[in-house]
Amino acid sequence: MGEVMHPVLDVQRVRKIYGQGETEVQALRGVSLTVERGDYVAIMGSSGSGKSTLMNILGCLDIPTTGKYLLDGVDVSRLNDRQLALVRNRRIGFVFQAFNLIARTSALANVELPLAYAGVKAAERRRRANLALAMVGLAERADHEPNQLSGGQQQRVAVARALVTAPALVLADEPTGNLDTQSTNDVLAVFDRLSASGRTIVLITHEPDVAERARRLIRLVDGRIVQDERLK
Ligand code: ADP
Ligand code: MG
Repeated sequence: MGEVMHPVLDVQRVRKIYGQGETEVQALRGVSLTVERGDYVAIMGSSGSGKSTLMNILGCLDIPTTGKYLLDGVDVSRLNDRQLALVRNRRIGFVFQAFNLIARTSALANVELPLAYAGVKAAERRRRANLALAMVGLAERADHEPNQLSGGQQQRVAVARALVTAPALVLADEPTGNLDTQSTNDVLAVFDRLSASGRTIVLITHEPDVAERARRLIRLVDGRIVQDERLK
């Protein structure tokens, strides 16, 4: 990719309006933010504040009503559905609250999946998936299936799957929402390591002690950013 001068995320005056007339909802009311490479950002806000709407736009699952969004320098509003799917596969690693691993399929095969979609050959897939599993501390569990792993381990497999394509952005939506304290700590330790190794992470959470682990905290109220604070 060469020398990169642009931010990973560049959100410019983004508005999102659902419905029209009497049922119109302004979910985002002019959100602007940039995230530089290597930053680790937590987004907090109460229910209905627009977090999922913003996540969907950042993740190229939806487009703004007005305003502009550049991901890794690419104006995604100009892309068609097929191109958006490619951007999601190549540039973004998703982590969801519900893990979303494929049942009766080894951890290794789960992690290899995004590489298979990207057309990477089998031997190279295996090599990269093993590296990603080692990164989350699960090298020894590569042939375990999801139901043979704890919740925290499953989420770490999901994190390995998210980072195996070397995405510009790791996007996590309540990744610790289904986990106990110990597993939450294990997963957050992985995010700490990813952050230390230079990954760009955006994490949505309700939990203040999870948000505290990030380098930067953004708070949404009623579709607007009301706080954007550097933590470390
Ligand atoms: P959060 O994730 O912070 O709970 P959301 O982004 O889901 O907030 O929702 C923000 C606002 O937009 C809420 O008022 C919600 O009811 C509304 N909203 C979200 N998605 C839709 C949709 N698909 N159609 C209509 N309204 C929606
Ligand atoms: Mg939500």
